[in-house]
Amino acid sequence: MIKIAQPIIKEEEIRAVEKVLKSGIITQGPMVVEFEKWFANFCGTKYAVAVNSGTAALHCALYATGIKERDEIITTPFTFAATANSIIMQRAKPVFVDILPDTFNIDPTKIEEKITQKTKAILPVDLYGQIYEVEAVNKIAKKYKLKIIEDACQAHGAEFNHRKAGAFGEMGCFSFYATKNMTTCEGGMIVTNSGRYAELARRFRHHGQSEKTHYQYFDLGFNYRMTDIAAAIGIEQLKRIDDFNKKRMRNAQMLTERLKNIKGLITPIIKKNYKHVFHQYTIRVTNEFKITRDELSQCLKEKGIGNSIFYPKPLHLYPYFRKLGYKKGDFPISEKISKEVLSLPVHPLVSEEDIKFIIKTIKEI
Ligand SMILES: *Cc1c(COP(=O)(O)O)cnc(C)c1O
Repeated sequence: MIKIAQPIIKEEEIRAVEKVLKSGIITQGPMVVEFEKWFANFCGTKYAVAVNSGTAALHCALYATGIKERDEIITTPFTFAATANSIIMQRAKPVFVDILPDTFNIDPTKIEEKITQKTKAILPVDLYGQIYEVEAVNKIAKKYKLKIIEDACQAHGAEFNHRKAGAFGEMGCFSFYATKNMTTCEGGMIVTNSGRYAELARRFRHHGQSEKTHYQYFDLGFNYRMTDIAAAIGIEQLKRIDDFNKKRMRNAQMLTERLKNIKGLITPIIKKNYKHVFHQYTIRVTNEFKITRDELSQCLKEKGIGNSIFYPKPLHLYPYFRKLGYKKGDFPISEKISKEVLSLPVHPLVSEEDIKFIIKTIKEI
């Protein structure tokens, strides 16, 4: 079976974890500090704050940038629920904007019509590993004085104009969940160039306490701390992220070369000046293909080729988002695309033989 995702844990990670377990400091400690230092360096930002999930990272970033009750945050409905959930967790309102059919990212031309007096920030997602449309979106943010919080949970090491994901707004958020391009089992990170925002995020992850003065609660906070066990794994993964991404990109390129001319399949595009790190390799299966998307998915599974649908339904069609006033038809591109997308395995453990087998199988179908 070729899996759709598989974490890569080697001797290095195991040894690093063993060392932490034997050190006596197993919660947030020196390894977290070390991991933050290296991760900030990797992203080209001044600060990084480690937390225990990507969701926590998003929640901390919204808090740190001053988002509060009844504020409106513009984001995409075609993403993992955590993106919009974090907005609701901060008692703000997710205001959805439809996506571009080629990159699946938020459509900059549809943002301005959604801006009101209450709009405080834009939360674009670097979906599948390709950074959002930075130039167009950031121009709007600047014009209306909106903050940008980048959901880079799928884009570790992705680039636009040689700058790394996470660094394009006030704050960038990452996830180190087991299936992401690098993992700490569960984990997350916020990166920023603002010392003030970094300090607020540190406070928020630690029940509103500054890390220097215990039991002095400046404000509401949560327990979003990362453990030194997770950080030790993260440090080892970070040493290999460029290699992981290279393999993903190589696999993606091989798939695209052989699949791009098949009628009814649309292969992913890489925009000019962008480095796409292929957290997911996602094709669109249109009406012109021989069988339906769901039939293709089933066929591949029967042949031992793992595949998945990210995401089967845009967020606005789920009951608790519908309650915010959304209905079917609001975001036609997202609704159409969600019926066409199919992600194929490209993670670093997928070999050239595996790729050839995937291609052969699809061609036979
Ligand atoms: C994975 C992911 C998150 C959430 O990360 P967790 O670590 O699972 O909390 C948020 N946004 C996107 C786009 C993701 O893919």
